[in-house]
Amino acid sequence: MTGEGSMIVPCSNCGAKNRIPIERFGAAAKCGKCATDLDTDIRYTLRCTGCGAKNRVPANKLNAGAKCGKCSEPLATAELSAPQPMMISDMNFDEKVMKSPLPVLLFAWAPS
Ligand SMILES: [Zn+2]
Ligand SMILES: [Zn+2]
Repeated sequence: MTGEGSMIVPCSNCGAKNRIPIERFGAAAKCGKCATDLDTDIRYTLRCTGCGAKNRVPANKLNAGAKCGKCSEPLATAELSAPQPMMISDMNFDEKVMKSPLPVLLFAWAPS
């Protein structure tokens, strides 16, 4: 797959949907419309399969092989990244992504 991982971050000021690449998460990002600072410091809580310790993992580390801070066991980040792939289009974007009760990891690509 040749897609680039990105997530939609709604602006807290104007509500504009900003598409932020995963690797930029944790760094400063601004709304493309009103230049308000966006909250990109999104973290997931993953339970270690080895020792059971809870680890807070930044979104931009999910694909980088995160390890447990206690026992150094690799964390099962792959399950979080692709539990049930879902096709998202303009038709169902609002319903599936913006109204999702869970954090949504969105992989976007364009046919070339
Ligand atoms: Zn804004
Ligand atoms: Zn552990």
